[in-house]
Parts: sequence; C-alpha cells; structure tokens
Amino acid sequence: MGYNVAIDGPAGAGKSTIAKLVAEEKGYIYVDTGAMYRGLAIHFLDKGIKAEEIEKVIEACKDADVKIRYEDGVQQVYLNGTNITGRLRDEAVGQMTSKCSVIPEVREKLLDLQRELARTQDVIMDGRDIGTCVLPGADVKVYLTASARTRARRRYDELIAKGEDCDLNEIEKDIEERDERDMNRQTAPLKQAEDAVLVDSSDMSIEEVVRVIVELCK
Ligand code: C5P
Repeated sequence: MGYNVAIDGPAGAGKSTIAKLVAEEKGYIYVDTGAMYRGLAIHFLDKGIKAEEIEKVIEACKDADVKIRYEDGVQQVYLNGTNITGRLRDEAVGQMTSKCSVIPEVREKLLDLQRELARTQDVIMDGRDIGTCVLPGADVKVYLTASARTRARRRYDELIAKGEDCDLNEIEKDIEERDERDMNRQTAPLKQAEDAVLVDSSDMSIEEVVRVIVELCK
C-alpha cells in the first residue's frame, strides 16, 4: 500500500495547485481525479449527449476508456487512446462534468482506477470524495476550502491573465451552483471527512497552505 494523502474541497479552493507543490516536495504522484471526471464528460459531449439524458450517459460509460499517464511527471488524460488533456479546463466541460458526476454509474466507472493508482504508489489525490469514499483509510486527509468570493476572484484573475473576457459575479454564481450540486448529490457528496483537517485558504498564501500540509505528511 502506498502512502496516501487525500485532499477534498469545493471548486477553486486551490486543491490542484497545492497538491502539485506538495507532490513535488514529498516525491508523491499527484492524481487529479477531477480530470478523470472531465475526461468522461468530454466523451459524452463528443457523442452529442446532454447531461439530462441520463440513460444515454450511462450507456456511453461502456465505451469510454479513460487512462491516466505521467509524461515528464505531468498527468495526461487519454480518452479511448487520444490525449485530451488540453480540453479538460474548457468551461463547457466543467459544467457538463459537474452535472454528470452526480450519476452513480459515472462514479463507479472511475472508482477502481483511482483506488488502483493509490494502492501501488505514494499519491496525493484531490477531488470531492477522496477522504470519504475513495480512500477512507488515507494516511492524511485535508478538507481545503475558501469563501465563494475568494474562489471566484482567483478564477477571474486566471481567466483575465489568459486574456479571456469574463464577469466576476457570473463566475461566483457558477461556483455557488457547482458547490450546491457537489454537496447535495445522493452519491458521494462533497463533505469533510470526520478525520480530515480543515484548512481555510481564504487568507493564506499558497506557500502557507503547502507548509501546513507538508507538516501533516510526516
Ligand atoms: O476538480 P474539478 O473542478 O476538475 O472537478 C470537476 C467536477 O468533477 C466537480 O465539480 C465535481 O462535480 C466532479 N468531481 C467529483 N468527484 C471528484 C472530482 C471531481 O464529483 N473526486
């Protein structure tokens, strides 16, 4: 069994940025489970399926092969043999992912893949249900959060830096909708595991959050 660190929390809390830095410092593999869900969502979108068409989504799971590979230490997502990493962060993909990940069959599809990665190597895995469902026996569990306004502001700054046109209030509204869906779904909702350490990054720098987590990983 590898050493397992689980980081859960809402969209925009900084999970992936922090997890990558901790992975680098501690020599763990960083596993971004959101990217796996996003990979499946791309499969559904490419087939022209809408999130409301639940039966079609379930059927389409059967011919989706999502694989994770590490190239130069960076996670790459393959969908049926094609590298789709560059499409993962598209806004439409994010929306579709959040809607489809409420479907139990979609979650089931990715569960074994996630557990297998953690069984064989030291990982820091981020997502929504890692500490509660995927790796309940993880060595370290962190629930990383920040206020909706702070998370929206971070996303806004990211988009502006990329030269994209966006509206802060719209982004905040999207984030709140996503939180609502992730926290209130029937299967594997986002919530803090009883044995997880709560870290609110609203007023913390990236370095401060990394230090707190590295300290927990001893
Ligand atoms: O973390 P990221 O924003 O890439 O996740 C995209 C969506 O995937 C989330 O809004 C959530 O609905 C879903 N997700 C999930 N369980 C995970 C990781 C992501 O339901 N472990």
